Amino acid sequence: MADHVSFIEQVNRFFEKAAALTDHDPSLLAQIKECNFVCRFSFPIERDSGEIEVIHAWRAEHSNHKLPTKGGIRFSPEVNEDEVCALASLMTHKCAIVNVPFGGAKGGVKIDRRQYSNRELERITRRLTFELYRKNFIGPGCDVPAPDFGTGAREMSWIADTYQSLNNGEVNALACVTGKPVELGGIRGRTEATGLGVFYGLREACAIAEDMKCLGMETGVEGKTIVIQGFGNVGFHAAKFFHEHGAKVVAIAEYDGTIVNPEGLDIEAVDAHRKETGSIQNCPGSQPLASSESALELECDILIPAALENVITKENASRIKAKIIGEAANGPTTAEADEILHKKGVLIVPDAYLNAGGVTVSYFEWLKDLSHVRFGRLEKRFEEFSYRRLLSAVEGATEKRFTEEMLKVLSKGAEEHDLVRSGLEETMATSYQEVRETMKLLDGKADLRTSAFVTSINKIALCYGDMGIFP
Ligand code: NAD
Repeated sequence: MADHVSFIEQVNRFFEKAAALTDHDPSLLAQIKECNFVCRFSFPIERDSGEIEVIHAWRAEHSNHKLPTKGGIRFSPEVNEDEVCALASLMTHKCAIVNVPFGGAKGGVKIDRRQYSNRELERITRRLTFELYRKNFIGPGCDVPAPDFGTGAREMSWIADTYQSLNNGEVNALACVTGKPVELGGIRGRTEATGLGVFYGLREACAIAEDMKCLGMETGVEGKTIVIQGFGNVGFHAAKFFHEHGAKVVAIAEYDGTIVNPEGLDIEAVDAHRKETGSIQNCPGSQPLASSESALELECDILIPAALENVITKENASRIKAKIIGEAANGPTTAEADEILHKKGVLIVPDAYLNAGGVTVSYFEWLKDLSHVRFGRLEKRFEEFSYRRLLSAVEGATEKRFTEEMLKVLSKGAEEHDLVRSGLEETMATSYQEVRETMKLLDGKADLRTSAFVTSINKIALCYGDMGIFP
């Protein structure tokens, strides 16, 4: 059971804890905390049966200190205004933490996508885009949505197509949304970006000997045991990258049950089984866990909640055995649970930093759409010629001779995919160190989450200062 505090209140508690450690003017802190705009939509769509149904949706733009605002659109029956504002606020801080120059936003449509056909989902998405457009809540320079829980590249392509047809001739129209298929202005590497960012972030945390020693663990991800809740876009990719780097994913929890294997699940096999049967249950090489609720309480090194918010609460926090919690989902830990876990010595790598891989690569996609050129297109061959010249100089000056195969590998110029991964890895690694540095400066007064919020508040405050709005 979730603690009886609203999601926005949870986020605000984290914010206030951090704000108290800064010396900014209280009115500036109040401005940074508040959600600037929220729009509620109700619109009719025709079901395949011919019936008309009224759909409810929200879009919140939390902070306009930088434009455009940016944030996913989720399809979930739990969506409400409070949730959308809380998620938009997290987006503001996320962007600031990883130095992505956007304000935070979030959107939600209150539907269970499994109850709608593809044609119905298309009608809902296109009508939502039209409503967002009418209210100026979408556009390359004002507000740019992306995928989130229950949405993916297909929904983003419907949004892009609708926006384009409403803005005939607008040269930057495709930059109105990110997470699109590559053929429609998307970028290579966006699909896996959030899960890969979760992996890079946790790998960075696990590489710090001093911190691992406090947890009684060795450095590195190899051999670490992982439990993941939610095997969707983020959960699957996080699991895949941990598996590929020698960690053991010992349990995966989904809404219809949990599968376990103490020796480690084969992630590609679980994915293939899910694609074939529609569920991860009964996957060969796994056993079912009797009580799915207890999945979060399994013995493991790293617990990765990657489904929804408010799953680690004051009810179950004391029973959690993981030494590290990697918050891949937004808001999985309530403020009360956070305190219990902190006292237990659990290292929580917070959502506002850890799942920022998606918005980081979305930023790259937006840049690509505005520049109308694929990353790597201009320099790839030039780099290859330069490396070839260098290698032939080495051959000329030494006895060394390279085979054509070696030359190909050594002189390979960067493709879009390589550059995106490199930019993502750099962002996750340097941002972790920046947050940890803030934690050190706060001298024992703050954990990683509070330090992440302090980092973000300081950057946003600087921005308002530069605008001359606050001294
Ligand atoms: P998704 O819809 O692709 O996957 C969510 C998965 O969680 C689904 O497989 C669903 O069946 C499962 N699930 C739902 N309820 C569950 C429950 N009670 N127990 C176990 N599993 C459950 O969504 P996603 O894009 O992977 O997003 C997951 C989380 O990550 C959300 O909190 C989202 O806000 C956050 N996030 C996503 C992105 C992104 O780029 N997609 C970026 C940042 C943060």
